[in-house]
Amino acid sequence: MQNHTHNVLLYYKYVEVEDPETFADEHLAACKELELKGRILVSNEGINGTCSGTIEQTEAYMEMLKSDSRFSDTVFKIDATEGHAFKKMHVRAKKEIVHLGLGEDINPNELTGTYLEPVEFYKQMQEQDTVVLDARNDYEYDLGHFRNSVRPDIENFRDLPEWIRENKEQFEGKKILTYCTGGIRCEKFSGWLKKEGFEDVSQLHGGIVAYGKDPEVKGDLWDGQLYVFDERIAVPVNHLEHIVVGKDHFTGEPCERYVNCANPECNAKILASEENEHKYMRSCSAGCREHPRNRYAFEHGLTGEQVQERLDVLKETTEV
Ligand SMILES: [Zn+2]
Repeated sequence: MQNHTHNVLLYYKYVEVEDPETFADEHLAACKELELKGRILVSNEGINGTCSGTIEQTEAYMEMLKSDSRFSDTVFKIDATEGHAFKKMHVRAKKEIVHLGLGEDINPNELTGTYLEPVEFYKQMQEQDTVVLDARNDYEYDLGHFRNSVRPDIENFRDLPEWIRENKEQFEGKKILTYCTGGIRCEKFSGWLKKEGFEDVSQLHGGIVAYGKDPEVKGDLWDGQLYVFDERIAVPVNHLEHIVVGKDHFTGEPCERYVNCANPECNAKILASEENEHKYMRSCSAGCREHPRNRYAFEHGLTGEQVQERLDVLKETTEV
């Protein structure tokens, strides 16, 4: 992006933070002073953040964080944007900086997979007897992923350990490569795989974000887009070709546009074209469409009668 005004930062550092509550309070005040917006988590195990600001503000932030000896070698992934990518600034003290639900805690400073830089990952991914394992959620995978990577067939990340154990034979004796958005989830996940007894485990250093920025690989062998946890939602990775892998929830047509189900109790992320968003009242199922607090009906000022009319039409024409 040329002549951009703002940056989005993505970073993490696993390092001991003694009093995360106090750290979070002070860090929030400093971020507000810099007029940054974003989401930062702090815990005893480190810091995990993503935030946006003008080029000057984000540079001042990186300098500030690095001036603290605990974070002096933090690697920042920097994306150019126009304007902020977040609405508010949050800094929260948590139990963990990333929640994987692996059942037992892993300290990546003690146990983690081999770090592969993008060029090395690109090479090894194409070798025989290699399994590329996606360490993200299903909706992230559905928007984009490495070609031929394995998508664990689970709805929730906490089911991953069990799924790995049940599908062990897929991975035994093979080189396992894991990847995630910015690398933080793989730090723990690859460590967990080693603890499970898998010997040859590597991780994409800096995650998909670093891979897309690498001047040599240029995001090659990535299909679709990358799901990101800010207002941009989807960003490009592969700068050589763009193959759409996302599919419209309702029609199965190629689609890269995420919306949240209008049933506030469901809120599922679904891919939907603008046309289908309206046709299906931005709801993933008939049950969600009929929910009394459906946000789509509310936003569009639909009366009970109008909603019923729409439901009747859909029932005649479709099963979804
Ligand atoms: Zn729903």
